[in-house]
Amino acid sequence: MPGTGIADLIAFVRARLADTERQADLFHELTCTDLAVTGAQACPGVGPLSCRCPAPARLTDTAEALRRSVDACEQRIRRVSLQDPGGLLDALGAEQVLRALALPFELHPGWCPRWYPGTD
Ligand SMILES: [Zn+2]
Repeated sequence: MPGTGIADLIAFVRARLADTERQADLFHELTCTDLAVTGAQACPGVGPLSCRCPAPARLTDTAEALRRSVDACEQRIRRVSLQDPGGLLDALGAEQVLRALALPFELHPGWCPRWYPGTD
């Protein structure tokens, strides 16, 4: 059974962002004409070959940006030392950011209710 600590939260968010990137080409604009032509034959992970709508790239770009945020939060948490109370506050703030990044995935079976932003 997975844990609910900060390392688990980080791993959860990273996995969900990887899911998003892997599935990005399944999502298209409603007006994506290439999808209308080729969508019936598109395989998961392949998608229409000539699609020019921005939806798949937007999803992967967003996932990449959020992954950089996860990296930054993880660094802030790793830098904590007992001799630096300010660093502890920064780490707590970073954890809240990670919880906010996890919240859109709260329906995933791996999500933990203890990760709601603002809870202990
Ligand atoms: Zn498209």
